[in-house]
Amino acid sequence: MEQVVIIGSGCAGWTAAIYTARANLSPLLITGQQPGGLLTTTSSVENFPGFSNGIEGTALMLEMQEQATRFGTRIEYLSKVDSVDFLSSPFKLSVEGKVIEAKSVIVSVGAGHRHLGVGGEHELENKGVTYCATCDGALPIFRNKPLVVVGGGDSACEEASYLTRFASQVYLIHRRDTLRASKIMAERTLANPKITMVWDSVVEEVLDVTQDKVTGVRLKNIETGETSTLDCAGVFVAIGHTPNTQIFKSQLEINDAGYITLGEGSRTSIPGVFAAGDCADSVYRQAITASGMGCSAAIDAERYLASLQ
Ligand code: NAP
Repeated sequence: MEQVVIIGSGCAGWTAAIYTARANLSPLLITGQQPGGLLTTTSSVENFPGFSNGIEGTALMLEMQEQATRFGTRIEYLSKVDSVDFLSSPFKLSVEGKVIEAKSVIVSVGAGHRHLGVGGEHELENKGVTYCATCDGALPIFRNKPLVVVGGGDSACEEASYLTRFASQVYLIHRRDTLRASKIMAERTLANPKITMVWDSVVEEVLDVTQDKVTGVRLKNIETGETSTLDCAGVFVAIGHTPNTQIFKSQLEINDAGYITLGEGSRTSIPGVFAAGDCADSVYRQAITASGMGCSAAIDAERYLASLQ
């Protein structure tokens, strides 16, 4: 039986692993099918303390993994938890067909990309519609072509600015007349001559399903009601994230937006189950806050296990 199982390999998960491993709890971390989480889809991370010149998202995650492994974390690499039973004791996790029993669990499953839900989006995914500029931006189909980014937060600004390396022009479509992004990111975006803002507008349809590739978007100005077509070779959707909490719905208290509800510290509604990072944080959602929450969850788990003795 495991003392502590950590589900997820983003900042929260690896930090929880470093702390529980150093507490001699020999944690088992289940990475999920996208090891490293959302930060691996980011280019340079400029705001994680300790890296004065920034660090690539993937490099940061590999450093954390290395650090967790050094203290004895065991890793179920590329494995996914299919279901959990937190109502029995010990807890049971079904992982790729086998059952793992655990005295305590730290849930740090992060969040996935939100979708627009408009016509053509699903059909043209990977045919010009993508959710990750750093993963796909350099593809030949996007080179020297006009590209569209949708969203108004830090992600959208970061994606738009990254894509200016490859695109002939980047159009940033936002449903308001001001950016939600942090001041520094917003200022950089607005000052970039290769980024054209399209304010007060939403994408109504991604074109063109009949040609089996992205040729443009149909836009609607929500102030005037006018519709228009904008030609582009790619649509990069950066409109936020949805917590990956589906498998915990019948087990833990989860709010209407899908985030795990926390009590004191990292405690969930089930004693012995703790949560950390983007799956339980709708407010800050930063790499460093996820790491901080992972640390809290590890300490809470350690104290919980001590209380069982
Ligand atoms: P976000 O801050 O939640 O912004 C999402 C944006 O998408 C908002 O502008 C929102 O519009 C828009 N949006 C949401 N649903 C939409 C829809 N259905 N159609 C059209 N637009 C829609 O998400 P994020 O940019 O991914 O950032 C998440 C967190 O990560 C934030 O805390 C951010 O600071 C952080 N982050 C930091 C960095 C960095 O510092 N390097 C980089 C990326 C992300 P409204 O404005 O109208 O709500």
